Amino acid sequence: MLCHVAGVVPITTADIDDLVCTAVFFAGCNFRCPFCFSSDILDFKQDFSKDIRIVKQQIERNFPFVDAVLFCGGEPTLQKPVLINLAAFAKEKGMKVAIETNGSKPNVLRELLDKHLVDYIILDLKSPLNTDNMTKTLRPLSTFFFTIDDILASIKETMALLKKRRDDVGLIIRTTVVPMLTYRKEHFLEMAYDIKDLDAVWELRPFVNASSVVSPRFKETNPPSSEFLRGLKKVCLAEYPDMRIRIKRYDTDCNFCRD
Ligand code: SF4
Repeated sequence: MLCHVAGVVPITTADIDDLVCTAVFFAGCNFRCPFCFSSDILDFKQDFSKDIRIVKQQIERNFPFVDAVLFCGGEPTLQKPVLINLAAFAKEKGMKVAIETNGSKPNVLRELLDKHLVDYIILDLKSPLNTDNMTKTLRPLSTFFFTIDDILASIKETMALLKKRRDDVGLIIRTTVVPMLTYRKEHFLEMAYDIKDLDAVWELRPFVNASSVVSPRFKETNPPSSEFLRGLKKVCLAEYPDMRIRIKRYDTDCNFCRD
């Protein structure tokens, strides 16, 4: 089976319940978020095409040292047969499986849950769930032929699925705090309202102005400070004191193993 995988990071903590993970970065994404710093892996380039057996070998050599395999990207749910195959491989070997997703493919997540192939889902919630904020935050690729309202409906379906299957899976909601896009306290109060019943850890991360960021304007934009993020956390906790909110930073130093 052929797959598009940009690389494998042998060992990372990934901030999931203290698990040590191998991270598999799927190439290709159906969005072009302007603040995304993974612009070099968002296309299904020929360079990333390989036999799935090579990826399995890269994963397997880390099994003595890790507890879990994290599938991220890019958007892993766009390659459903590959994701299911690799998740089944990891589970057969006794590993936990974690999947980071933008939430646009609820049917893929449903199938993974039905087949008991996923232990943790990290849902990247980019903005409040309304057309206006989503339009500013996401850029759906025209080749995928869906509108912002289609995406919104899919993400809401994903959240409804996760609420229904909450006992079956560990859940982290991840939101990148991005100046000019998703940074006002009103944005975070609206998202807090949307996720308050999911009993998830909500992780706030400052955006990274890396040279690989999608939109040039964000290369020149300063990331928000830790103090700013703590202020957002405080505002949300004042309204929803039971929420589990944590502040993290992206690790941009991870290097892929590409062999
Ligand atoms: S931030 Fe995530 S969903 Fe957005 S373009 Fe990057 S990989 Fe895709």
